[in-house]
Order: sequence, then structure tokens, then C-alpha cells
Amino acid sequence: MKVFISADIEGVAGVVHREHTARDGREHDRARVLMTEEVNSCIEGALSWGATEVVVNDSHGTMRNLIPEAMHPEAEYITGSPKMLAMMEGISPEFDAAIFLGYHSRMGNHGILNHTFHGGVIRNIRINNQDMGEIALNAGIAGVFGVPVVLVTGCQYAAKEALDFIPEIETAVVKHTINRQTAKNLSPQKARYLIKEKTIASLSCLPKIQSVSLQGPFLVEITYLHPGLADAAEILPTVERVNSTTHRFETDDFITAFRYIRSLIAIAGGLN
Ligand SMILES: [Zn+2]
Repeated sequence: MKVFISADIEGVAGVVHREHTARDGREHDRARVLMTEEVNSCIEGALSWGATEVVVNDSHGTMRNLIPEAMHPEAEYITGSPKMLAMMEGISPEFDAAIFLGYHSRMGNHGILNHTFHGGVIRNIRINNQDMGEIALNAGIAGVFGVPVVLVTGCQYAAKEALDFIPEIETAVVKHTINRQTAKNLSPQKARYLIKEKTIASLSCLPKIQSVSLQGPFLVEITYLHPGLADAAEILPTVERVNSTTHRFETDDFITAFRYIRSLIAIAGGLN
């Protein structure tokens, strides 16, 4: 049995500020330890459930956050960027389950450090009239490979967003958002214990959880924070300008939609 873990940092207990999440943040190295230990607890849970292989994809920012010498010895991990599938790099049909660790809600929803891929670029991503953040989009990618997402860890709003999209998913709430940069956290020890227990519980429910199956064609609408970002991204030929801040395009293939979304963000993000 193989388990895939996509590990972000904003939903890790104790992480509440850019000082934790940014490469040049004064608290970043501390946050990396907290993230790595939550990942290790998830790996421990997967192994004690019976996983024979665990692969972790470092999914935040530089994608070089996990601390190699502190990693659980039995898991392999993907580090570095660029990666074609970004937060889902390494997923394949061989995996039995995926877990999203340290995740956060989408831009504009309540939730600690909420954003969608790039907090300086994206106001909203909408596919076939459904607003989608990182949880939904990455679950859609897992679904292309037939892999169910069984557990999301983070704040209560990330948990709600996951449950809205995948009603049977398990969640581990390691902190309660008070506002976008303030949370009431479990201690690191309790957060790790909860993650291990929820990993075992979610994998034990595996037969009940289906992979996400999104049907094309996909009408994708991307709304940027301001018109200048849309101006910059407009060099990508596929897009049609809908209004001052929104692009639209259509494709039959979800991975293609994802790649166009990331291309638009990369071009627009070059402005920031
Ligand atoms: Zn992140």
C-alpha cells in the first residue's frame, strides 16, 4: 500500500505569519521544524496502518522546506522546484491514498494565511462555476490519477473547505483561526499525536472514500487582485479577457487546465 503526502506549511500548528512562511522570515527555520515533525507523525501513522511506501512532496514556496536530516527514515521525499504538478508532483496511479498536510483555505475564505497558490496574484479561481482553492484543485489532480484524498490537516476553515468538496474526508484541526494572522494552536506534541491518529483513522476508512472525478470540458475563470496582473498574463494566447481583472479559457483536460492556471500565475507573478 502506497501513501502520498503533499505537505504545505500554513496549516501547521504554530504557523500564523509571513515570518514563519517566507524564506527570509526570522521564524522560518522554526516553522520548518514544526512542519517536518508534523509530516513525520503522518508518516508514522501511515506506516503503522500498513503502508509499504510513503512519498512526501514538499509543497510550500521554495518547495525546499522539509529538513532532510530530521525526516522519518522510512519515507522518501520530493524537494525543489520547478515541478510540473507543483504541490502534487510525484502523484501516480500507484498510490492508494493521498493526504494534504498543513493546508489552508482558499483566498477570500476565512482561515489562517488564506490564499490560492500566490497571495500576491490570485483573488479567485473558478472552474465550471465552482470556486476552487488549493484543496479542491489538488484533489482534482489526485482524482485524474484515481487517487482519493483521505485526510486534510490545518485550521477549522481548511477542514470545512475540504469537507464541502469531499464530504467523507477525514480532517485534523491542529489550530483554530481567530483571524487571517492569528490562531489558537494545539501544542506541537498534541498536533503531532492528532495527525498520527487521524492518519490511521482516515486510511482505515479508505474503501469508503472515492477519488474526485471532475468532468470536462472545464471553463476556467481566473480573477487577479488587480488589472495590471491580468494585463501581464494576457500574453498567454489561450485566454480571453472577461473584465478588468478576469481571464477565461476552456479545455477538456484537467491537467491542461492546471498547467494553464500555473502559467498565468507565473507570468502575472513576475510583476511582484
Ligand atoms: Zn504554502
